[in-house]
Amino acid sequence: ETISFTDFTKRVLRKFQGIAKEHGIKLSGDIEENIQYVYADEDRIEQVLTNLIDNAIRHTPEGGEVTLQMEVLDQGVKVNIQDTGIGISEEDLPFVFERFYKADKARTRGRAGTGLGLAIVKNIVEAHHGKVSVHSKLNEGTTFSFFLPYGVEKSD
Ligand code: ATP
Ligand code: MG
Repeated sequence: ETISFTDFTKRVLRKFQGIAKEHGIKLSGDIEENIQYVYADEDRIEQVLTNLIDNAIRHTPEGGEVTLQMEVLDQGVKVNIQDTGIGISEEDLPFVFERFYKADKARTRGRAGTGLGLAIVKNIVEAHHGKVSVHSKLNEGTTFSFFLPYGVEKSD
């Protein structure tokens, strides 16, 4: 299906404003207005964005920031979710997309997760012929990114 990516990301961000505020976190988006349509499964891509924003909020202390930023590229769109949170150590970083993997759980606020979120994120993005990546520095913050190709509308 066709996703109007600008409206879509704005809506998902709005969904998290309340919970971010509750935790004293500033959630903001730098959203492209002229973004092209993306042919993708909207529910699945919403799950990707939701998992990444949920993680960012849960690993960022009060007073921190979570920022969504988009890059419009020739072949598709790249979304970066950046936080000023606890970060992920170099030892943990290569494994975060693995199922059930949890980095230092003592430092995670709130409910203990199942460690499935990022494995699902990777799965969905790759099913759309996209890519996921992560950059992080312990005690400074983390940026998760996913690239989604514009895709081709199916005429079946
Ligand atoms: P679930 O998403 O299944 O509820 P989870 O959040 O623990 O559980 P993942 O989303 O797969 O699982 O994340 C795996 C681990 O990666 C987390 O437990 C946490 O240690 C680490 N992690 C994920 N996102 C961040 C982040 N933004 N900052 C710091 N650590 C993170
Ligand atoms: Mg998660």
